Amino acid sequence: MSHSAVDPHAATTATPAFESWGRYPKYDAKIVPLNWQSDFPGVMAGLRGGALPVGLGRSYGDVCLLNHGNLLQTTGMDRLLDFDSETGVLTAEAGVSLAKVLDFAVPRGYFLPVTPGTKYVTLGGAIANDIHGKNHEAAGSFGNHIPSFELVRSDGSRRLCSPTENSEWYTATIGGMGLTGVITWAQLRLRPILSRKIDYKGIQFHGIDEFLDLKQRFPNMEYTVSWVDCASTGRNFARGIFMLGEHSKEPGELKPSPEPKLVFPFDMPGFALNHTTVSLFNSIFFHKQRKPHVRKVLDYEPFFYPLDAVLHWNRMYGKRGLVQFQYAIPWQHAKEGTIAILREIAKSGLASFLAVLKAFGEIPSLGMMSFPQAGIMLALDFPIKPDLTFPLLQRLGEMTREFGGRLYPAKDAAMTPAQFQAFYPQWEKFTKFRDPRLNSSFWERVTGGESIL
Ligand SMILES: Cc1cc2nc3c(=O)[nH]c(=O)nc-3n(C[C@H](O)[C@H](O)[C@H](O)COP(=O)(O)OP(=O)(O)OC[C@H]3O[C@@H](n4cnc5c(N)ncnc54)[C@H](O)[C@@H]3O)c2cc1C
Repeated sequence: MSHSAVDPHAATTATPAFESWGRYPKYDAKIVPLNWQSDFPGVMAGLRGGALPVGLGRSYGDVCLLNHGNLLQTTGMDRLLDFDSETGVLTAEAGVSLAKVLDFAVPRGYFLPVTPGTKYVTLGGAIANDIHGKNHEAAGSFGNHIPSFELVRSDGSRRLCSPTENSEWYTATIGGMGLTGVITWAQLRLRPILSRKIDYKGIQFHGIDEFLDLKQRFPNMEYTVSWVDCASTGRNFARGIFMLGEHSKEPGELKPSPEPKLVFPFDMPGFALNHTTVSLFNSIFFHKQRKPHVRKVLDYEPFFYPLDAVLHWNRMYGKRGLVQFQYAIPWQHAKEGTIAILREIAKSGLASFLAVLKAFGEIPSLGMMSFPQAGIMLALDFPIKPDLTFPLLQRLGEMTREFGGRLYPAKDAAMTPAQFQAFYPQWEKFTKFRDPRLNSSFWERVTGGESIL
């Protein structure tokens, strides 16, 4: 395979059996199901090449891909094993989806301690990327809520990992991108709730100063996240909606969510998403909230998972797919970096309508390779226009580096080896924990082709 930052041929091959959410790059791999905790490493006998455990493929780029390798699909390993209703600690196999965890937990008065913007991710995938949510300032990242898990290596050794037992393996595996071994089961500490409801506030802002003022004004809100208009310039530059929420303190309904009914039916033609349609969408979204301040009570589904209402919404970006760009820049340069990067994005005319701005808090992540760090985080999608998107991503990656930030491997398909190694200087130490039979296309790409297979 190509070890350059971007493989220009990757998007042109036929649709493979397993795609990441961005549908780029498209790589062929053999799918090997893991249905039982005892399946690994036995399934490796007779397999050629390396392997990578994968969940639901909700990572955007190649962190869940292995070109011409074997993808160990863990979603059959999805049993709930134990629940302590006093402490809220759930033990489950790693292939269980967070959607299934919620269906179990909500009727019992519990909720996920940290959740990403989709519930269709697995427990193992959430640990391996040490995902974060809207409550990062209050709760840290996912690994902060994992008391223990089992890690199985390709030599057949099994380790119980916790902050006190095999603690180095514990920190290497949280955010370890599936490279340290297969997580077979994990404990997850849930948090109590009284109802499905969220008390919600939405406040319009104009520019990064107003965004930062709002952040200061509401230091104790559990969940905060902002939608930001990345397409507008001039007077409307960096306008957005600051969204705050907390679980309702009134006892209310606790029932599982209905299945989503809508499916995005086909791949949209590539030309449908362009500067005009995106600017129009952003303007409608901003003015949808007619008043500068809105307060309401919402169900948790539209608050946490607005995009899950339409399955396969990534088809909206057409067959070529999409790439995400997500950075975290520490406070020292967070404001100037965010303004400069937003300007560069607006100037490019490539911005999408799914742009999220958020402050990360001070609670340190436990993972050796975890992405979150205190400061400002920005995430947005770009449709793939080969001649334009990748040069823009290179510029944005360099700017992130200059401002002392880092990019998120779970969302990446374009960072260069030099960028990765500057963002994660601990990567060489991490290499010592890699399983010799496990590898990913992301790892090959960002370590300059280094392979221990
Ligand atoms: C709409 C949407 C919104 C999102 N919002 C957020 C967000 O707010 N915050 C955030 O942090 N992320 C977010 N994400 C990204 C997503 O949460 C992560 O990429 C998550 O890790 C995907 O989990 P998965 O089960 O799909 O795993 P995959 O994408 O299949 O794999 C992810 C990684 O986990 C490893 N892995 C999977 N299972 C195991 C296992 N059993 N043992 C060892 N390693 C394993 C894989 O090797 C891979 O490196 C979002 C994604 C989408 C599509």
